[in-house]
Amino acid sequence: MLDTGLKVWNELKINLSSARIYLPEFLGVFLVFILSVFIFFFNNSSFYSIIAFITIIELAFMYFVGRKRRNELYEINEIINNIRKNVYSSSEEIVLSKNLSGLQETIKMMFEKSKSDIEYLKRLEKIRTEFLGNVSHELRTPIFAIQGYIETLLNGALNDENVNKNFLEKANHHTNNLNNLLNDLIDISMIESGEMRMNFRYFEIDPFLKTLVNELTPLAQEKNISLIYKSNNERLQLFGDKSKLRQVMVNLIQNAIKYSEQGEVSIVVEEEPKFGKIIVKDTGIGIPQEDVGRIFERFYRVDKARSREVGGTGLGLAIVKHIVEAHGSKIEVKSSLGKGSEFSFKLKK
Ligand code: ADP
Repeated sequence: MLDTGLKVWNELKINLSSARIYLPEFLGVFLVFILSVFIFFFNNSSFYSIIAFITIIELAFMYFVGRKRRNELYEINEIINNIRKNVYSSSEEIVLSKNLSGLQETIKMMFEKSKSDIEYLKRLEKIRTEFLGNVSHELRTPIFAIQGYIETLLNGALNDENVNKNFLEKANHHTNNLNNLLNDLIDISMIESGEMRMNFRYFEIDPFLKTLVNELTPLAQEKNISLIYKSNNERLQLFGDKSKLRQVMVNLIQNAIKYSEQGEVSIVVEEEPKFGKIIVKDTGIGIPQEDVGRIFERFYRVDKARSREVGGTGLGLAIVKHIVEAHGSKIEVKSSLGKGSEFSFKLKK
């Protein structure tokens, strides 16, 4: 009941305040009306002539109000046309007469909103074009290389025992790169289009890491690098999407091995009151400070040639960042050039 009363009162207040716009016209006509009544009264005019006069006064009132309304509509129309023709560079240039100050604020807000939407779309378009450019470039490199080896083989090298196996191995290496690139592109487009389905649950981190380390040990051994994982708490359960976290860990461990010439790659789980912090540490080439902030960008590599040589696509860390952020966490990096790098992120306990 009280609510309805308040609503009616608020509506009345709004209507009264909009009616105030026509107050000067109303007062003017009202004055003329009073004057006329007096004149007719003293002149002893008939009732009909008073009615006729009141009608004239009403028509005059409607004319003044109508004229004002027409002018206001014209003003609004002009502002809309100016916005359509891109005349304004900032919302401050949008000025309506005092009567329309409420509307002026709304138009300004709409102008700012559409301006920021257009800028956002332009930025997206630029990112999309850059991405397509990068993808074509990345695809072209292995395809040209494979084409080159095959053509050389067909032009006679096939029968040259000294080079044929070597060329086939190189072509195979580039085919693997192409395959890695396509897989990463599928992942990144799934993630960015919002199609990545997450499946969160508690799982034991210890057997999860042990299995991963077993799988990746041969890769480390090929480079004489020791892959170390020591468990502190075999029962520790963390919350996350196990299969997506597997992708994160494989990427981080493979990178640690790829960008190390010797030494060790260690995996540590530090237990905090509410979180488990997973750390992948290496004693590899490290990352220059000026590049640390950029390595999570798509296709950003510190050393392009080296990355390609070791089968990198430049998309691994972008995928890692997306997945870690989908867990409500953040990926951290510490690196020292020539000494090694440390990547870490936290998961809820
Ligand atoms: P890539 O497929 O090239 O490895 P990533 O997105 O995984 O792409 O990594 C981006 C770049 O970050 C790499 O090209 C490399 O320059 C650098 N990087 C990533 N991990 C390491 C690491 N552990 N040590 C040194 N550099 C690294």
